[in-house]
Amino acid sequence: MSVLPGRLQRKVQLAISAIVVIPMLVAGWLAAEWVSTNFEKRIEVWIVDAARANQNWLEAYQNDAVMLGRVLADDPSYVPGITLYPDIAMPSPVSRIAQGMGLTLLQVYNPDGKLLYSSIPLRVQTTWETGQTGAVLKVVRKNQSMLAAVGITPVPPKGKPQYYLVVGSLLGQDFANELTQLTGMKTRLYYREGRDYYDVFSNPAQPMTLKHLTKDMARRLEAERKPYYSAYAEDGEYRGVYTPIVDSTGRVEAIMFSGLERRTFTDLLTNRAALFFWIALLGIVIGGLTGLLLTRLVLKPIEYLRNGVMQLAGRNFNATVPIHSNDELGDLAKAFNAMAARLRAARNEERQRHQRDKLAAMGELSAALAHEIRNPIGVISTSAAMLEKPGLDPAKKAELTRMLREESTRVARLVQDFLHLSRHRQPNFDVIDPALPMERALGANIAGNDAVTVHKDFRHDGVRILGDAGLLQQAWSNIFANAVQAMSDVPQPELRVTTLCKGNEVQLAVEDNGPGVSPDIMPRLFEPFFTTKEHGTGLGLTIAYTLAEANGGRLEALPPKRSGARFVMRFPVYEGEAE
Ligand code: ADP
Repeated sequence: MSVLPGRLQRKVQLAISAIVVIPMLVAGWLAAEWVSTNFEKRIEVWIVDAARANQNWLEAYQNDAVMLGRVLADDPSYVPGITLYPDIAMPSPVSRIAQGMGLTLLQVYNPDGKLLYSSIPLRVQTTWETGQTGAVLKVVRKNQSMLAAVGITPVPPKGKPQYYLVVGSLLGQDFANELTQLTGMKTRLYYREGRDYYDVFSNPAQPMTLKHLTKDMARRLEAERKPYYSAYAEDGEYRGVYTPIVDSTGRVEAIMFSGLERRTFTDLLTNRAALFFWIALLGIVIGGLTGLLLTRLVLKPIEYLRNGVMQLAGRNFNATVPIHSNDELGDLAKAFNAMAARLRAARNEERQRHQRDKLAAMGELSAALAHEIRNPIGVISTSAAMLEKPGLDPAKKAELTRMLREESTRVARLVQDFLHLSRHRQPNFDVIDPALPMERALGANIAGNDAVTVHKDFRHDGVRILGDAGLLQQAWSNIFANAVQAMSDVPQPELRVTTLCKGNEVQLAVEDNGPGVSPDIMPRLFEPFFTTKEHGTGLGLTIAYTLAEANGGRLEALPPKRSGARFVMRFPVYEGEAE
């Protein structure tokens, strides 16, 4: 695309910024706020719900264990390890029910806490207390730590207990996987040891501790025994809930973590700054594209129009504007083309008229010149004819010779002045002091004429004009020559030359104290061949007028301020840089 109208483009860009970009930023900011807050809230709700489901799942295991424990306690004959039937394994219906419930652990203890029987070989690392009905125990099986959710039932159920039945399920990696499948969330189990919590599934030699157990979190989990949600759980890798696992005495035995891994996309939706950045960027790109479209749709036709108008201003009347659309801009282009066509026609007509006028003026001027020359030529030819007559007395002869000389000088001067007028010299423009040509002409015209007093009053403050100093000097010279001639009979001839600035115009005036110009001849002063002098050509002021105009100025004869004649030349002040 060629050079667009720079300022217009800047304005359009500004307008687009105001209309599109700024509201986009605001909307982006609001959207980012809204989406991130909402999204974060919804994720939290979901995770908390899912964690509760996990907790229920765990509690269900425990309840089942307690329930099965009670059933077995009611009829301990099914229970292996109880002295009544020391050698009988758990009968198959009971073991099948237990397996169906996911309860694989059955242990029998005597009242002193001595293990009498265990369905699975394992070591229990935490102790439970008498009277406790449910517990989460830390156990080690085949060198692997895990938790067991158990129910503890005394046998017989009433009276002095002779045995304790511990029925439950092992919460190992399988359990965690089961929960992950159930809710889609990562599950971790931490068991308590002293003040710290350790990951059940990690390497027993290097158990993973629960990091970032802040005071706030510990208070909520241990004192209030309520779940704790964190958007940056497990070292910032997850959003998740820590749920305390409480035994029947109300002690926090373990902590279950259920969490959702933080992913880039969800992070984007909850990260205000990033969300704002992307929405704003999208907005700005859309704004930019809108701007481009607008430029194509509106600015381009306007640019064509502008080029057309500039060409017209540069007098290229052949300029046309392409019509691309059938809208207001298209109408404008059509109107422009019609206007250019009319201007073209007008210009051609004007040229023809100008040609006609020029021919007419030439005719008039030639007729006037012929008229001016006819008289002296008549005198010359009559004088020459009389001189040829024999016997002419010497005085008459001398008279005729003088007339011959005078008239031929007159014709020569007329021809010279006429040549001056008609020779079309192009001015050589320079940045000049407007008073300079005037002063030079004045100096040349009054040189050796001490009688003339000159009063100067220059107030043009050093302004400059564009002009040809030589041509302007010639114009002033004609004016001063007239003034000096006009004051030839004045006892104290005086010339006043003044300059002054008015607006962006400089005025230069010359006033003499001769007889002045009578109002009836005032309108004719600049006519070619108009003269009131016996030997005048009537071309001096015409030439001065033409030269002033050729230099971008204007010459006028105005009523005098004192007496005599007053001529004023005006020029536009040159505003550019001095050359
Ligand atoms: P020319 O000097 O040959 O007559 P110009 O065109 O210079 O031709 O002047 C035309 C006429 O204007 C003069 O004949 C004269 O009547 C009048 N004129 C010009 N300048 C003055 C002047 N300073 N004072 C009085 N009349 C003037």
